Amino acid sequence: MTLRVDVLTLFPDAVTQYATTSVLGRAMERQVWELHVHDFRDATSDVHRTVDDTPFGGGAGMVLRAEPILQTLDDHPEIARPLIALTPSGRRFTHAVAKELSALNGFALLCGRYEGFDERVVDLVVDDEISIGDYVLAGGELAALCVIESVVRLLPGALGNDESSVDETFSEGLLEYPHYTKPAEVRGLGVPEILRSGDHARIERWRRAQALHRTVARRADLIEQRGGLSDIDIAVMAEFPLLEGNGHTG
Ligand code: SAM
Repeated sequence: MTLRVDVLTLFPDAVTQYATTSVLGRAMERQVWELHVHDFRDATSDVHRTVDDTPFGGGAGMVLRAEPILQTLDDHPEIARPLIALTPSGRRFTHAVAKELSALNGFALLCGRYEGFDERVVDLVVDDEISIGDYVLAGGELAALCVIESVVRLLPGALGNDESSVDETFSEGLLEYPHYTKPAEVRGLGVPEILRSGDHARIERWRRAQALHRTVARRADLIEQRGGLSDIDIAVMAEFPLLEGNGHTG
């Protein structure tokens, strides 16, 4: 099954360019997903192709008019649903939400600009609102691309054999263990000896312990969400203590 993603935006090239590059581009070529970008300026009827206007009630900034967005949806009944508006006041985007979206046949993303959309767009056609974090971007395009990339890489066949979305940060409600590659020494810093031992069962336990230590130290909220540490977690953390130097130099 191919996931259908529609994006409604004023900057179609910005979305298309990134979405056809690297992992997303290869997954598109393999028909894991397909992208349909709609410039809602094309649905304006005035000579200046106006998409925004001043806010009722006054105040700074411009607001996106409802009609071009509504008209785009009328002109393209094939646009996938749910229609998700990107907005800083939406529900927070997480790995769990990405998983939820990856189980759908398709969805559409509405990118705002300026002060955002006329609220009647939300009332009339929006099914869900998503925020990618507690900060304000100039537009929804980067947020849409964050959503698309994190969803697509969860789809079967999206990643090559040497990449995997199964065993990484958040996949089990934990942060990921640290990675190392060659050479064995970098500016006086070595690699944990166990990773060069060839004992795969021990390496797996060590990685699990580091993931747990790291999550306890950095994201206690994730441990809480999992219902605390199990006896097995505590045992493996005791077997392999926190990696020394597993922090930041700054
Ligand atoms: N006036 C809005 C407010 O205070 O909530 C901010 C509008 S922002 C400058 C313009 C557009 O960028 C928004 O309509 C939305 O589409 C997008 N945007 C900004 N920050 C975002 C975030 N954290 N998550 C998702 N979309 C965001």
